[in-house]
Amino acid sequence: MSSKPLEAATLVVGSEILSGRTRDTNTQLLIETLLERGVRLGRWVAVPDEANSIKAELARLIIEGFDPIFVSGGMGPTHDDITVAAVAQALSLPLVHDNGSACRMEERWLMRNPGKEIPAPSLEGIRKMSTIPEGFMTIPNEAGMAEGLYGRVGSNGQLVMVLPGVPREYRAILLSKEMGALLPRGESIHMAEIEFKGRESQLAVLLKEMQGANPDVEIGSYPQGPMKVIIRLTGGKGRVVQVEGELKVKMEGIKVPI
Ligand code: ATP
Ligand code: MG
Repeated sequence: MSSKPLEAATLVVGSEILSGRTRDTNTQLLIETLLERGVRLGRWVAVPDEANSIKAELARLIIEGFDPIFVSGGMGPTHDDITVAAVAQALSLPLVHDNGSACRMEERWLMRNPGKEIPAPSLEGIRKMSTIPEGFMTIPNEAGMAEGLYGRVGSNGQLVMVLPGVPREYRAILLSKEMGALLPRGESIHMAEIEFKGRESQLAVLLKEMQGANPDVEIGSYPQGPMKVIIRLTGGKGRVVQVEGELKVKMEGIKVPI
């Protein structure tokens, strides 16, 4: 019995990503983490720190059925951190104060600043970062302040996660045990590569035929230079190994032009 493959999406919030100033290393980590659990990333969207763009893109990802959906960046205490408010608006949820989250952040602040009193601006920041969409739950942030948020939305109960953009905080929450318990777990997705010394056009017929006969294994062709092509197979391990063996034999039969 085969169920519909799980397809995740990510909505990366940050003008610095779009301007190329910051490389989106968070999403690289997300892809690796998801593949290990048999989940593919089906959409990768970046938007500026701008509420309307966040709302429109999140709504689109939900309508298109992606699950889980990871939103990241713009969760901090400053005026330009508008992600959580935009997510709440996109979902038509009111913002509510989460007392438990605020207490954990205050404790973390006091641990980092022993013997001090939390000054008013920091308290205000904590207040902002513990104001979350109604019904959302939190995942503690072992590496910083703003906590991860998640909720189930829409009639299908798709999981929407909101994570801070700071890479060590993103990592800490993504790899946390709380996240581990939330994410779907399927057979890990395996990749194999075959190198072909020749032109991509020589493989076109064979690859089309192989892809048609093996729809559960994704076959991609990636030219690396004038006479070198990498064929990448992606799918469940057993099937990838099987198709790889078959394809290698067939590719050996293709004459390489001199
Ligand atoms: P903060 O509490 O610091 O405001 P935040 O959740 O609001 O955190 P951002 O302000 O979006 O996050 O980004 C914080 C830092 O993390 C910035 O230096 C930014 O360039 C970096 N960053 C954001 N998104 C990514 C990403 N996808 N990959 C790598 N770095 C990122
Ligand atoms: Mg920020």
